[in-house]
Amino acid sequence: MSRKRGGGESRRRFLGGVGAAALVASASAKGLGAQKQGELYPFGFVIHGGAGTIERGKMTPERERAYREKLTEALLAGYEVLKKGGASLDAVVAAITLMEDSPLFNAGKGAVFTSAGTNELDASIMDGKTLKAGAVAGVKRIKNPITLARLVMEQSPHVMMVGDGAEAFAKQQGGVTFVDPKYFFTEERWQQLERRREEEKKKKPLKTSALERDGLLLDEKKFGTVGAVCLDKAGNLSAGTSTGGMTYKRFGRVGDSPVIGAGTYADNQSCAVSCTGDGEYFIRSVVAHDIAARMLYGGKSLKEAAAGAVEKVGKLGGGGGLVAIDHAGNFAMPFNTSGMYRGSIGPEGKPNVQIYKE
Ligand code: ASP
Repeated sequence: MSRKRGGGESRRRFLGGVGAAALVASASAKGLGAQKQGELYPFGFVIHGGAGTIERGKMTPERERAYREKLTEALLAGYEVLKKGGASLDAVVAAITLMEDSPLFNAGKGAVFTSAGTNELDASIMDGKTLKAGAVAGVKRIKNPITLARLVMEQSPHVMMVGDGAEAFAKQQGGVTFVDPKYFFTEERWQQLERRREEEKKKKPLKTSALERDGLLLDEKKFGTVGAVCLDKAGNLSAGTSTGGMTYKRFGRVGDSPVIGAGTYADNQSCAVSCTGDGEYFIRSVVAHDIAARMLYGGKSLKEAAAGAVEKVGKLGGGGGLVAIDHAGNFAMPFNTSGMYRGSIGPEGKPNVQIYKE
């Protein structure tokens, strides 16, 4: 095979045996455009449910089981779409919708609270075939922001819509489920906000130095954003991300998740990426596109590119991780925190879920 092979995670590809390996080899040698009709890619699907301080010692067996079950369910939802020859984007939306509906994750139902006690949700999606993208930020009444991001991509000439305007667009389009903002209330997230408010009261008044501001961000180690990246049988890549942001964020703050190129990116020529972590650092490092660029212009393997991008975020002082898949089905799930809810599934249909550093 002419492709570079890295070690570790990305060496595990979604290959269904020799036949599939031969198809990938022919695909990478000829380029995607030259693929003959009938040739299929070894589809693959990778998801995350957020990175952060996730430690074995602090997790109850029940809670761990609940996370593993939901991640497995989300992987299988994507797999069902892909197995039948369904589109990459459909698999991404199926899995993210499921995770948005679960209070376990900081997206949709389990969204964290802003410092003002409100929930403001962000999401984005990108199609690697057309480079079309859609995003929403600061929506408060949309049950599944990922579906609205897709509508922005497919039914508007725009890429990003925010707040009331995004919700008005959703009304006009129809087919989007609206909920009362109370729907997003969960006791656990509220307690997180209360604890955070207490911590803030004990702190000295905020100085304006960058270090102080950074410290404020890094104190909150509970992420939980969800994301999915996918390669379908037709060789199309896509990526999606959905989040409630970060606990105690100022209202109006927008993180990396809805920013195309930062939290989400997909290009059939290189890879699809979905990030999670300290959004400000991911925006400043333009992480998702950085990985595609390292591959495309720097000739790096997916694994090298993804590791390099996470290292850059870490050097700036940011915590988090990402999931990524390339056009040959290699995947990577690097993070610099103690854990990241994550999982992958390939043509063999066996979900592989991980939580901690293994
Ligand atoms: N990246 C998200 C944000 O900054 C948070 C997360 O991934 O948990 O809004």
